[in-house]
Amino acid sequence: MKTETTIQGLSASLSPARANRKIIGFVPTMGNLHEGHLNLVREARNLCDVVVVSIFVNPIQFGPNEDFENYPRTLDQDSQLLAEVGCDIIFAPTVEQMYGSQPRLTNITVGEITQDLCGASREGHFDGVAVVVTKLFNMVQPHYAFFGEKDYQQLAVIKQLVCDLNIPLEVIGVPITRAKDGLALSSRNGYLTEVQRATAPIIYQSLQTAEQQLITGQDLTDVMNNVKNTLAQNGFNVDYVEARTPALQRIEQFNQDVVILVAAKLGNTRLIDNLQIKYSP
Ligand code: AMP
Repeated sequence: MKTETTIQGLSASLSPARANRKIIGFVPTMGNLHEGHLNLVREARNLCDVVVVSIFVNPIQFGPNEDFENYPRTLDQDSQLLAEVGCDIIFAPTVEQMYGSQPRLTNITVGEITQDLCGASREGHFDGVAVVVTKLFNMVQPHYAFFGEKDYQQLAVIKQLVCDLNIPLEVIGVPITRAKDGLALSSRNGYLTEVQRATAPIIYQSLQTAEQQLITGQDLTDVMNNVKNTLAQNGFNVDYVEARTPALQRIEQFNQDVVILVAAKLGNTRLIDNLQIKYSP
C-alpha cells in the first residue's frame, strides 16, 4: 500500500493501473475510519482491481460554527486499518495541495436537493462537498466511486452531480453499518459522553418503531411526529424527521417506498440516520 500526499504522486502511483486498463475504485473519506468506511473499501476491493481511499478533512464543507478544527485526524491508525482491508493507495493531501494558493472562483451548486434536510441547517455544506468530490474525481479518475447510504442526501447529491455533469464513473451506494445496539457508525460518535452514547441508539429504535407503525397502516404525519416526540423526550434536539421518496421528493402518504431521514443533536453532537422502508400494497 502506498500513501500519496500530492496530486503528482497520486498520478504517478495510478499511471501503471491506467496503462494496464485496470478498474479503479475510489472511496472518499475524511478519515478517523471505522467499520462503516472499511465496508466501503471492502465493496471497492470486491469490484475493482485498484482501490484508492482519500483521507481529507475538507474545510469548505464545514460551517463557521462546526467542528472542522476539532475533527479527529488519525492517519496512522487509518493507514493500518486500510492496509488490513486491502487498500492500494491512500491519498491524503494537505488543504494547500487540494485548494492551492490562488482563490477558487468556481462553485458547484446541485440545486434543490441540497436546499432542505441537512442543507437547510448547514448552509453551503453540499456546495463544499460537490466541489471537493469533483476535484477528487478529476484527480483519481475512478471507474467506480463508493459512498455510504448513511449520508443519504449526500449520496443523492453526488449521483445528481455525476449525472448532470456526465462525470464518467459509476456511483455505488453502500448500506449503513451499525454498532450492535443499532447506532449508525460515525466519526462524530466519538464526541458523545458515555450517557449520550447510551441514549444515541434511540434514533434507530424510533426509526424501527416508525417502520412498524407505517406497515400497520398508521398515518405518515402521525408516525413522523411520534419519532420527533420520542427523540425530544429523550433529550435530543431534533433538526428534522422527514419521510421522502427514495429520490428525496416530499411525500404525504405511505403509498410507495419511503426513506425516513433524521438529524438530531445530543449536546453539541449532530447525528444523522435514515431507514428505507419498502411499500407492499
Ligand atoms: P466521512 O468520512 O464521514 O466523510 O464518510 C466517508 C464515507 O463513508 C461517506 O460516503 C459516508 O457515507 C460513509 N460512511 C460513514 N459512516 C458510514 C456508516 N456507518 N455506514 C456506511 N457508510 C458510512
